[in-house]
Amino acid sequence: MYDYLIQGATIVDGLGGQPYTGDIAIKAGKIAELGQVSGDAKEIIDADGAYATPGWVDVHTHYDGQVSWDDTIDPSFSHGVTSIVMGNCGVGFAPCRPGHEKQMIELMEGVEDIPGTALYEGIEWGNWETFGEFIDYLGTKEYTLDVGTQVPHSAVRYYVMGERSLKHEDATSDDLSAMANIVAEGMRAGAVGFSTSRTAGHRSVLGDAIPGTYAEKEELVAIASAMGKGVFQAVPAGVVGDIVVEKWTTEQEVELFTEVARASGRPCTFTLAQNGNRPDQWRNCLDLVEQANAQGVSITPQIATRPIGFVTSLKSYHMFQRRETYLKLSQLPFDQMLVELRKPEIKAAILTDKDVPPDQPGVMANLYAGLGMMAPAMFPINLPINYEPEPGGNIAALAAAAGQ
Ligand SMILES: [Zn+2]
Repeated sequence: MYDYLIQGATIVDGLGGQPYTGDIAIKAGKIAELGQVSGDAKEIIDADGAYATPGWVDVHTHYDGQVSWDDTIDPSFSHGVTSIVMGNCGVGFAPCRPGHEKQMIELMEGVEDIPGTALYEGIEWGNWETFGEFIDYLGTKEYTLDVGTQVPHSAVRYYVMGERSLKHEDATSDDLSAMANIVAEGMRAGAVGFSTSRTAGHRSVLGDAIPGTYAEKEELVAIASAMGKGVFQAVPAGVVGDIVVEKWTTEQEVELFTEVARASGRPCTFTLAQNGNRPDQWRNCLDLVEQANAQGVSITPQIATRPIGFVTSLKSYHMFQRRETYLKLSQLPFDQMLVELRKPEIKAAILTDKDVPPDQPGVMANLYAGLGMMAPAMFPINLPINYEPEPGGNIAALAAAAGQ
């Protein structure tokens, strides 16, 4: 008698072969039989029309706040993810001195689109100060999936250097040893790595690059060398394209990571994406990665299978959201606002209006300024969703065809 029998699933076993329809029998937490299974089970699950795959491991998440209030860890769990790694991009909530919660929230809120109010109210502040205490806190929880975390550079730099970290001052030798000790302690407590962000595109809600963005090689080597185990994760400068002014190119960054990995012996992994302004950047980076690996240095790019995307609509961020006329109408109930927006004189007013910038230069609402530029890469979403639209179906082309 099996514990579970999953019947008639489309099985994608992760070995690279074609999907096939079959059954999966589970006993004592392990797959006991696969394919055409006979025999009974305590629970039979009809999986006709569903996929059965190995659990997904998502190594780049930002659940650092959500782990306080959500044991399910959705939407990852509902999409078949069974292990997540958080503490990416140099941001997280430990270590954190009592009274510094606000600063940690300001850093996360600008990097990730997570409202500050949710982080103030949802996080169980006060249960930790050090990274080890944070891991102990996670240990008191039960989640639907496995949770791993990295020690975030911004939090460590702010913990050690305070205001000086916000001004991007170079670390003194005392700062370096303090940061290295904190990271080493975090690793011993169970962290799976250390993370840092080097793109000026990652800004706090106050509008400035987050602590650690401009850290010198010496600092990265000192920290990486103290880790003893785990991965060194980084988001390089230049990876978000030319929307921000960067200090280094992504190619220079890959060379830097190679030096950090060589000096410390830690494997390094970094985000690599297509840069529309420099179409060959990713090829250059992959060449550098290949050379480094051929020399025995472990560098692994993390490549998303689709570009960074935003869903824009009247219910989220959009390119007219800071126009004076729109701001007045946005106070109305949604249906009433739509009636107003359909009026030709209102449309004309919005098109000629000036933008009123948000109060804080680093909040996500500032996206409005870049969205107009993105029109040639923007596509309408209709149901059922077409995930591979024709290039000519973009918003700019549709508008041009309609004479708009
Ligand atoms: Zn990230």
